[in-house]
Amino acid sequence: MDLKNYIASIENYPKEGIVFRDISPLMADGEAYRAATQAIVEYAKEKEVDMVVGPEARGFIVGCPVAYEMSIGFAPVRKPGKLPRETIEVSYEKEYGMDTLTIHKDAIKPGQRVLITDDLLATGGTIAATIKLVEELGGIVVGCAFLIELTDLHGRDNIKDYDIKVLMEY
Ligand code: IMP
Repeated sequence: MDLKNYIASIENYPKEGIVFRDISPLMADGEAYRAATQAIVEYAKEKEVDMVVGPEARGFIVGCPVAYEMSIGFAPVRKPGKLPRETIEVSYEKEYGMDTLTIHKDAIKPGQRVLITDDLLATGGTIAATIKLVEELGGIVVGCAFLIELTDLHGRDNIKDYDIKVLMEY
């Protein structure tokens, strides 16, 4: 199955000159969503993952079915003010200004083998911040899985020390 048939490309969204890659047609097709999930499950099994972590919101869409299929846990990474219990946070630079991500302090047990998931790797800022949160809690990041990588943005350079699985490149 060619998963790229299920990605919509929207020109000049969210602003002029950007081509937005939209995974919602893939999610809307049960077989395509399952095929993408299974490919990441195979990767996660190879890496002997025992916890999945994903940043809001599309990191949940990719990571939760993987965790469910493997009967392991999923922990959400969220913007400030969204998680109700004690959190740690990390701030990182975006194209315009700073952004902050948070995770519950007890989301990861030290030594857990963590897979981080998101829909798309662009500059790598989001995933690098998520890695920092997991490591601060003592988790071992054994892999990062994405549906899509935008190769021109060289996000990989931000996460050189980590193993990466990507299903589609643009
Ligand atoms: P990065 O931090 O620059 O790697 O950006 C990745 C984050 O931005 C991910 O959480 C994506 O969901 C989101 N993102 C950036 N570009 C796109 C896109 O073209 N389609 C969908 N999400 C995108």
